[in-house]
Amino acid sequence: MSNRNKINRRKFLKVFGASAVASSAVLTSCKGVGPKGQETATGVHEPPKGKMTYRVNQHTGDRVSILGYGMMRLPTEDGTAARDSDAPIDQEMVNKQVDYAIEHGVNYFDTSPAYCKGKSEEATGIALHRHPRKSYYVATKMSNFSPDTWSREASIEMFHNSLKALQVDYIDYYLLHGIGMDGMEAFEGRYIKNGILDYLVEQRQKGIIRNLGFSYHGDVKVFDHLLSQNDKYHWDFVQIELNYLDWKFANEINERNTDAEFLYNELQKRNIPAVIMEPLLGGRLSNVPNPIAVQLKKRDPERSVASWAFRYAATRPGVLTLLSGMTYMEHLKDNLNSLCPLKPLTDVEMKFLEDDIAQQIMGFDTIPCNNCKYCMPCPYGVNIPAIFVHYNKIKNEGELPGLSTDDNYQKYRRQYLVSYDRRIPPDRQADHCIGCGQCIPHCPQQIMIPNELHKIDQFVEQLKQL
Ligand code: SF4
Ligand code: SF4
Repeated sequence: MSNRNKINRRKFLKVFGASAVASSAVLTSCKGVGPKGQETATGVHEPPKGKMTYRVNQHTGDRVSILGYGMMRLPTEDGTAARDSDAPIDQEMVNKQVDYAIEHGVNYFDTSPAYCKGKSEEATGIALHRHPRKSYYVATKMSNFSPDTWSREASIEMFHNSLKALQVDYIDYYLLHGIGMDGMEAFEGRYIKNGILDYLVEQRQKGIIRNLGFSYHGDVKVFDHLLSQNDKYHWDFVQIELNYLDWKFANEINERNTDAEFLYNELQKRNIPAVIMEPLLGGRLSNVPNPIAVQLKKRDPERSVASWAFRYAATRPGVLTLLSGMTYMEHLKDNLNSLCPLKPLTDVEMKFLEDDIAQQIMGFDTIPCNNCKYCMPCPYGVNIPAIFVHYNKIKNEGELPGLSTDDNYQKYRRQYLVSYDRRIPPDRQADHCIGCGQCIPHCPQQIMIPNELHKIDQFVEQLKQL
């Protein structure tokens, strides 16, 4: 594979994977160990049947479940998520989870030619084909990220391959995938110069695409441009990142991102339904710092921390569905419990999250790593995400050693050093970073990885001395 293709592939993975990680419910309580040693949740209540909340898409009258199934982290035969593994997809388990989702009212399934290393559409098609065609809506994408696929022929082939892999003769929701990545130039190359957007509009006229939209990441100029063309293209829906931290702070967290408040309101002005990705912000909103989790639990002891984030996004009336990449049955059950039915948040609760709780999270000053692993592998063996996750966890738990004169200093110091060695083998720790910078362009959170590793390494060295 050429170097250019490798880079394209990483970008490709970055776009589709980010939403997957983000929307997968990371369960924070009742954890157990899965069949192959993965952490899964146990003791999740059986969700009720017949209680799903639906939203009506005014463009087509579709009645869409508020929980959508993101097919980007499907289970594999080795018990991991297909995004992280080359093992074959566990089709039996996919079928079982799809059946369970449909039984509990989920009717929106979102895939892409890019997901699960190219295997998601076929697995989704096999699972859904066992159900009446009218009982589900399937969404897929023109994922022509690599310039090798920008030609008209290659893009049309991608579209036809999707129909074939999904075993359908029409697609309910079709998206231009990840517009905004690499700015206007890439957008023009992928969709305009090759005439593909016009081709897709024709497919909508023929009924082969029922709803045409786009998913947005990156340069807001492309988002603005496409909305300014709404009279011409009549977007049926748009997929955006929305959660209570990104509502007002997306741009502050990462200047490349746009606040969800702006994106959502622009869609609302034009009456365009929003499909939501990243309702949990890469799992960060199900794994909030302990003092924040305590406040959320106090306010509603029955609800999980993740459920607050799901309900925040789902409460907005312009939202058609929330996507969640659910690898394990426990993820699916927990999400169904949050949304069957949706108990909307009150205005006071919405403000509490987007002002009070979001402000507090911003103040915690953790490293904004969502463990997506796109920076890996490091050629020098450094386990970048494990080091950041370990640091954030201890910080979130309020057990980071501070001043050597603090009462708990010796206890926290010992704990940090012991758990650091236990979780990250010595030859993969921060001191092995040589600062080559190869990982930096791959981080969607734009973390200055070597700088953060250097700070952690200095911190660890300091702890060792005192
Ligand atoms: S900067 Fe450090 S962590 Fe990143 S690739 Fe280079 S050695 Fe690895
Ligand atoms: S450092 Fe960046 S790329 Fe690496 S796991 Fe964290 S968020 Fe992902």
